[in-house]
Amino acid sequence: MQQRIAKADTVVVVGGGAAGVEVATDAKSFYPDKHIILVHSRAAVMHRFGKDLQTAALEGLKRLDVEVILEDRVIEEDDANGTVTLKSGRKIECNFFINCTGQKPNSSILSTLSPNSISSSGYIKVKPTLQLVDEKYQNIYSCGDVTDMDVPTPNARSAMQQSVVAAENILLAIDGKVPKHEYQHTWPESLIKLTLGLDRSVTHLSDGKSDILWRSKEKDDALMAAQCWKSLGQVPFEDDYMQNQKEEGQV
Ligand SMILES: Cc1cc2nc3c(=O)[nH]c(=O)nc-3n(C[C@H](O)[C@H](O)[C@H](O)COP(=O)(O)OP(=O)(O)OC[C@H]3O[C@@H](n4cnc5c(N)ncnc54)[C@H](O)[C@@H]3O)c2cc1C
Repeated sequence: MQQRIAKADTVVVVGGGAAGVEVATDAKSFYPDKHIILVHSRAAVMHRFGKDLQTAALEGLKRLDVEVILEDRVIEEDDANGTVTLKSGRKIECNFFINCTGQKPNSSILSTLSPNSISSSGYIKVKPTLQLVDEKYQNIYSCGDVTDMDVPTPNARSAMQQSVVAAENILLAIDGKVPKHEYQHTWPESLIKLTLGLDRSVTHLSDGKSDILWRSKEKDDALMAAQCWKSLGQVPFEDDYMQNQKEEGQV
């Protein structure tokens, strides 16, 4: 993807959620002379989050001069001719098209073993203890994005909380006890740090009634990824770009 962005003059990103906003702002921040266009079908980017985050995300896109097209959608992408057609009729010539319109759960691992545990939208159905709803497989647990839970904006924090609940239940089961720990979503899990280019981010926390938002200048392009690898006992991945930054003392 990086190579295709590097070669392109115009890039169209479709989908104004976290992935689309981050890709568009990263690309424009790295290549200010390229024409980066973000197309989103709703009236605001980051529409699943509070108003404050929507406004801050749009400001971040505009600051970098990303062209934002709202309330329109891509109806055709012609890779061979390098054109993207919008519902409004506008045709955009572009060299690279990036689809960020959402992820699909991959629950195929259970499709033969326990098809009843897969919801119509592909998520894995579990009890509050995170055991499969299928009574035949009470020693199988599911956590994270693929799980059908009442989490408004699935994120790493919720996935980690769920993994703790599942691990505690597995320990009980190993001791011959009934798994009793239950996962319940709590609003602090919904904290999001959204990058707006390589050197800016905005962090947002909401309980559905009130919002807190703060803007930060970032020094670490890799957004603390190295720290995560280290916490897993792994050597952080470094490409040439990261290596050069290290030598220049920026990381
Ligand atoms: C652009 C973007 C920004 C985000 N920002 C934030 C943020 O600021 N804060 C936050 O908390 N969250 C954020 N998230 C969400 C966060 O990344 C996810 O919620 C989190 O990664 C979910 O963890 P997971 O373990 O459920 O799934 P994943 O991280 O997707 O891990 C699942 C793993 O399972 C592997 N796998 C799949 N099928 C199989 C199989 N059959 N066998 C073996 N392995 C398999 C996959 O390869 C993958 O490695 C962001 C996501 C995106 C896309």
